This record gives sequence, structure tokens and C-alpha cells, in this order.
Amino acid sequence: MIDPQVKQRLVEIVGENWVLDQPEELVAYSYDSTPMYQELPDIVVLPKTTEEVAKVMRIAYEYGIPVIPRGSATNLSGGTVPLKGGLVLALNRMNQILEIDEENLTATVQPGVITQELHQTVEAKGLFYPPDPGSLRISTIGGNIAENAGGLRGLKYGVTKDYVIALEAVLPNGDILHTGGKLAKDVAGYDLTKLLIGSEGTLAVITKATLKLLPLPETKRTMLAIFKDLTDAARAVSKIIANKIIPVTLEFMDNGTINVVEDYVKIGLPRDVEAILLMEQDGSKDQVDRDIEKMAEICRQEQAVSVQVASTAKEAEQLMTARRMALSALARLKPTTILEDATVPRSELAPMVETIKNVAKKYNLMICTFGHAGDGNLHPTCLTDVRNADEIKRVEKAFDEIYEKTIELGGTITGEHGVGIAKAGYLEWKVGKSGIEVMKGIKKAFDPKGILNPGKLFTDQPRKRVVIQS
Ligand SMILES: Cc1cc2nc3c(=O)[nH]c(=O)nc-3n(C[C@H](O)[C@H](O)[C@H](O)COP(=O)(O)OP(=O)(O)OC[C@H]3O[C@@H](n4cnc5c(N)ncnc54)[C@H](O)[C@@H]3O)c2cc1C
Repeated sequence: MIDPQVKQRLVEIVGENWVLDQPEELVAYSYDSTPMYQELPDIVVLPKTTEEVAKVMRIAYEYGIPVIPRGSATNLSGGTVPLKGGLVLALNRMNQILEIDEENLTATVQPGVITQELHQTVEAKGLFYPPDPGSLRISTIGGNIAENAGGLRGLKYGVTKDYVIALEAVLPNGDILHTGGKLAKDVAGYDLTKLLIGSEGTLAVITKATLKLLPLPETKRTMLAIFKDLTDAARAVSKIIANKIIPVTLEFMDNGTINVVEDYVKIGLPRDVEAILLMEQDGSKDQVDRDIEKMAEICRQEQAVSVQVASTAKEAEQLMTARRMALSALARLKPTTILEDATVPRSELAPMVETIKNVAKKYNLMICTFGHAGDGNLHPTCLTDVRNADEIKRVEKAFDEIYEKTIELGGTITGEHGVGIAKAGYLEWKVGKSGIEVMKGIKKAFDPKGILNPGKLFTDQPRKRVVIQS
């Protein structure tokens, strides 16, 4: 319950329409894209300006109210669930592209800008913002930054952190922090910009970002290679890179995913193969043609049963859509879809996919795997039903085993979805005790009262992945 006096002060800051506390409104802000986590906030506030955010934070700080920053809530780690109630700070009204600076090749945006809108706006000027999470049609730049989102173009172009050069952020006490600038070089002190990227709303509220842009590549081509054998596909991935070709996209789908996607999009994907690799290259026309030919040759050498190069933009789009649809297609099968984010060195892809298959068999679960093969970033996706308590216990054990193996292979517990609540139990496996202590120290320096997104990243229950409601 929020003190009526506090509510009144919030209304004075943002206006009556932008403070929500009716039960049906609160329910809408009680969950995100992560299944099995839900908690009601006490109040929701939608500010329009940085000054409003600062004033709201000052009140929250004074009263010790938890604040959960929120973009479009598409995150897959429970990052925006108000675990301890409090105030959801929804940043969707701060949705202006403030500037596109063609001399410095930068875009300055508010956090609520939708990723695809930024893409379209800069591309109309012959410019390019590479980070492209699968959720780009709805996710916000603020959420992308706070999760350090990746996407299908990560192999060649990197992830969100490679494009954020300056931030404005409001600290928990309401002070406004500026980091970085429109600079190609800046080594003044600790890199606070990078520290805020991927901080999952636990350190400060991002209110403005300056992003690096690139010239839009001249052309791009897409191809699909189909493999009977998983190890052949994994070898093709390694060999492409070893041949000094860095494609924009090098995506993987396993047999389970292929079948489900084909049921959904019906574009003639073969149903009886172990793996599909989807590749895209961009750049100058000559270079793209050379790379595509070479990649096709490598796939054939590695026993691909078919290699199909898209001959038209429409065909290419169809192939990319098939991959982008993987999660939606899988989500149609069962009531609960748990999408995970195990990431290993590229060379360990085949053993990792084999492990996932074996673990699924051992626990009698349906786990389909797809992901960014070129980045070693896999998304084992368990199709289950939260109402089946026995199965959910097996899901929990299965993911424990998958993550143990991920770490054993030199991997990490999340390549792009963040830690949130879902991975908090595993964080120590990756960063060790001293890593956790340093991170807690940083959290304390930014947020001494612990009001920003409490219960995320750190947990008292090591190992637990899934919350079982018995
Ligand atoms: C279908 C689908 C496909 C996806 N594909 C990808 C993918 O390819 N790559 C990938 O990386 N992710 C992917 N995701 C996950 C998700 O879309 C990304 O993490 C995205 O960046 C989240 O953006 P959002 O606006 O929804 O943020 P939210 O989910 O609202 O918030 C995410 C986190 O950021 C914090 N936050 C939000 N805004 C701010 C702010 N202004 N200041 C401080 N903290 C803030 C929140 O507290 C939370 O911890 C996918 C999700 C779905 C549902």
C-alpha cells in the first residue's frame, strides 16, 4: 500500500493520468515475458521527462519505496517483476528520438524509443544501428541497454554495449548522472557508461542515451544450409570463422525447432534433419558474393545435404522470418515456455547441444534448441506446463545440469537475457564469491538504500532457477 500522501505528491509531479493504482492496472504491471514470476506493484508511474523521473526518485528515496524501471517488459529473466511490491516506473512515454547527428554518426534517444523505430529512422538516412534483438518490434532502447541486448547480428557487429557512448541516468537519490559523450575516445576515470549497460535497472534509471551509428551496408545476402548431422553443422560454423569470414548472422535451429517452425510458417523446411544453419552477410556487393560462395562451399565440404542461397529479398526475408519466429512457434505448443540462454565458446557448440538433448531425454522433457551459433549463444527452450508440479521440478533439475555443463565448457549463464531473478541463483557459479562481493559493493555505492529493482541479480538461494509454487 502506498501512503495517500505519497500518491498525491506523485500525481503533482506527473499528472493524475500517469499514476495508476487500480487493481486491474496493477495486474498489467505484475509480470513480464518470463513465465512463472508475478508480483503486484503498489503503484505505477509513467513520467515524461528526466526531471519528473528525478522528482519521483527523490520521493521513493525519502520513503524507501522499491522502484522497478520498466520498458516493454519483454525481458526473459524476470527483470521487471516487482518482487517486493513498490513503484513501477514505466518509461514508455519518454519515446523521442532527440537527434540524429550525421557529422558524429550518433543518435540521441529517450529510453522508451522502440528499437525498430530507431532502425527505420536511421536507415532512412543511410545509417545503421546494428543491435537487433528478436523482440525489436516492441522492446525499448532503455530495456536493451539495461539488458545489454544482443541479437541476430551480434557475430559481426557486437551487442548493445558496443554502441552506447553516452548516458544520462537518474540515481536512486534523484541526482542526475552524465557519462561519456559523442567521443570516439574517452578514458576519463572508471567507465560508468559500460557499468550501467547490463545493470538491469539495479543501479540507476537511464533517461537518455547517445548511440553510435554506422553507415548502412551496401547490400546483404542470405543462405540456408541443412545438415543431417549436428557435428557437421558445428564444424561448418568453426570452419567459416577459421576461414576469416565473419558473417552478420550465423544462426542455428535443431530438429525440434525446425519442425515446430515449419508447422507455423510453412516455407518448406525439411523435417528429418538434425540442424539448419541460417547465414547472412552484408557489405560491398563483391565481398558479400565472395563470402556467400565461400560459406556455401564450406557447408558442402562439411556434408550439408542442401545449401540454398536466397535469390530475392523476399526469399531472404522469408528465411530470416523463419528464424525470428522460432520462439513464437515454440510457444504455441504448451502453456509454459521457458526460454534459456546458455552460452559456450563456439568450439563447444556440438557437445553443448548434445548435452541439452541428453538432459531432455533423461528428465523426459521437451527441450528444443535454437540460437546464435556464431556467438556460441544457445536458447534451449523447454515447453512445459506450470500446473504440472512434477514436471516443473524436473525442468529445474534439467536446467541445473545444463548450466553446470555450460560452465564446465567455459561458458556463461546468460549471453544476452540478463540475470534478473531467473539466473540469480547461478550468478556465483560464473563470477565467483569475490565477483559477487565486488558487484554488491558497486550496487551499494549507487544505491545505498537498496531501492532500485530489489531482488534482482543477487539471491540468498544459490542454484534455484524456477520458482515452484506448491
Ligand atoms: C520474442 C522475444 C525475443 C527476444 N529476443 C532477444 C534477442 O534476440 N536478444 C536479446 O538480447 N534479448 C531478446 N529478448 C529479451 C528482451 O526483449 C530484451 O532483453 C530487451 O532488451 C528488453 O527490453 P524491454 O524494453 O522489454 O525491457 P524490460 O523488459 O522492460 O526491462 C528489462 C530490464 O531493464 C530494466 N530497464 C528497463 N528500462 C530501463 C531504464 N530506462 N533504465 C534502467 N533500467 C531499465 C528493467 O528494470 C529490467 O531489469 C527477447 C524477448 C522476447 C520476448
